[in-house]
Amino acid sequence: MVKEKILPYKCRCGGKLKKSQTQVEFFGIDFGIKECEVCTACGSEYLGDEVMEEIEQEIKKRGIFGLERRVQVTKSGNSLVIRIPPEIAKFSGIQYKDQIRIYPIEKSRIEMDIIQ
Ligand SMILES: [Zn+2]
Repeated sequence: MVKEKILPYKCRCGGKLKKSQTQVEFFGIDFGIKECEVCTACGSEYLGDEVMEEIEQEIKKRGIFGLERRVQVTKSGNSLVIRIPPEIAKFSGIQYKDQIRIYPIEKSRIEMDIIQ
């Protein structure tokens, strides 16, 4: 059992932070259990610089950042169409006629989940 320690600085929501551990996953890669700080009010988790550095290195090593592409929005009827480049489709395992869940996470950011 990890001893809980309340930290002197606060979460964005004003809640108190405590040391904890979390399962870290980015881009579908499991980075294992890492130290983090968690807000006792809203549950937000913050990873330390050291952990973020480690994750960034691993992502670079695996070439995931290299998959970034610029695509142009086109149109089909009333919908806008964004083409998924073949490299990204291949990496993500998206195939023709797959179902995708799409939702905005902030004003200038849309996320997609492939429904398996
Ligand atoms: Zn919070």
